[in-house]
Amino acid sequence: MVDNHVHIGWFSDGYHSPFDVWRAVRKAGISEIAVSSTSTCAEKYKLVVREMRELIRLGGQKIHPVLWLTPRMMRTWGLRYMLHSKVQWHGVKMHWFAHREWQCNRKITQQAIDIARRLKVPMLVHTGDDKCCEASIFEPLCLENPDVIFILAHGRPLIQTMQVLSHCANTLVDTAFMPIEDVLTLADKGFANRIIFGSDAPINQLYCNGLSTIQYIKRQIDELKEQLTIGDFEAIMHRCAYN
Ligand SMILES: [Zn+2]
Repeated sequence: MVDNHVHIGWFSDGYHSPFDVWRAVRKAGISEIAVSSTSTCAEKYKLVVREMRELIRLGGQKIHPVLWLTPRMMRTWGLRYMLHSKVQWHGVKMHWFAHREWQCNRKITQQAIDIARRLKVPMLVHTGDDKCCEASIFEPLCLENPDVIFILAHGRPLIQTMQVLSHCANTLVDTAFMPIEDVLTLADKGFANRIIFGSDAPINQLYCNGLSTIQYIKRQIDELKEQLTIGDFEAIMHRCAYN
């Protein structure tokens, strides 16, 4: 099974090492992950590259590194460093809630999309209920860049997510922190083939007290298995958007 939304690195609750994260997802039954480093938010580019190399040493081809871009990285030595780091990036990411400049600076946003295009990898965008990162805000970008695949992380708000999925064939949605009801609604409305599984591990530790990452991922998988048709479940759990 594939987890398309995993993190390593520094976060507000401390450090999540490549070793710990890889061990946890494996124990939960996941064999392949797409992963970005939260150390990016501290702009620790050299650390991010070290973390990715360490993770690849552990998981080899089962690791799909996602390059999390920041506006500051785009303006400094950071971008060049990341692109020449010998880490083969399988995706790029923008987080418009964490980095508000993306929304008002069209130039660097287009440059970020051009990186995805040049690397021939998908662009992961964080979506949320806040106006600055709601799903519909990305629709124009998806329409203007039909040759790039956009992945709407979390798929929020759900109604807007379904509109974007309908209007833009180049979009997918991941299930990270998505309520099971929303996954079922998406499947029900005919979007099962546009859904990829993601857990957001180990960020679950901040929100789901008392549950280990292993337990959290297992519970997500069990819930989906119980409620989806077996065909949809298998397809969603084995789909990898980052290759
Ligand atoms: Zn995340």
